[in-house]
Amino acid sequence: MRKFDSDTLLVATHNQGKLEEIADLLRPYGIAVTGAATLNLPEPEETGTTFIENARIKAHAAAKATGLPALADDSGLAVDALGGAPGVYTADWAETGDGRDFPMAMTRVWDELEKANAPAPRAAQFWCTFVLAWPDGHDEVFEGFVPGQITWPMRGDQGHGYDPIFLPDGYDITFGEMDRWEKNRISHRGRAFEKLVAAFDR
Ligand code: IMP
Repeated sequence: MRKFDSDTLLVATHNQGKLEEIADLLRPYGIAVTGAATLNLPEPEETGTTFIENARIKAHAAAKATGLPALADDSGLAVDALGGAPGVYTADWAETGDGRDFPMAMTRVWDELEKANAPAPRAAQFWCTFVLAWPDGHDEVFEGFVPGQITWPMRGDQGHGYDPIFLPDGYDITFGEMDRWEKNRISHRGRAFEKLVAAFDR
């Protein structure tokens, strides 16, 4: 595996919530983060049909544009009774044309489960794929997921995205009710991150 040996990592995301989570995860390793928005990088179109393909598109675009190694994450919610939807379209379900509306997206998830008469528990997973790409075209891929179920109504205001309807297995609070450190410890992103750490030359 190729090692990452710098003190600053370019994180190819324009999502402030994700950037903060990744910054928290990297801090103990003495690695600071720079976000794609800070460097005014364009947001490439996510045309892949898997989390890995989309993470690759974002990481390679940022690495090529800057000449620096870049980390991208693609993530989303897969609901079993909806055939894995919204999956790579998790962010799209929240799109209004005028910003993202997550209560609307969460309502859609619940409405579709009700329409499908899906039996409880309504199993789902959050998935996260990290791709660390170098300007020469090399990359390394790290994947993690957290199993849980969809709950209704929405609960908690601590997280972002679909956190208020996701009840991780083994807990009776949603990701939206969990503090950031606890969530990072067990989340899809936390688990993918544990694998990523192996690529740090520390
Ligand atoms: P992308 O990875 O930026 O393409 O988008 C992933 C989508 O999944 C976004 O809409 C996020 O809000 C959602 N998502 C990813 N991780 C989480 C999470 O930890 N909690 C809640 N929603 C998430």
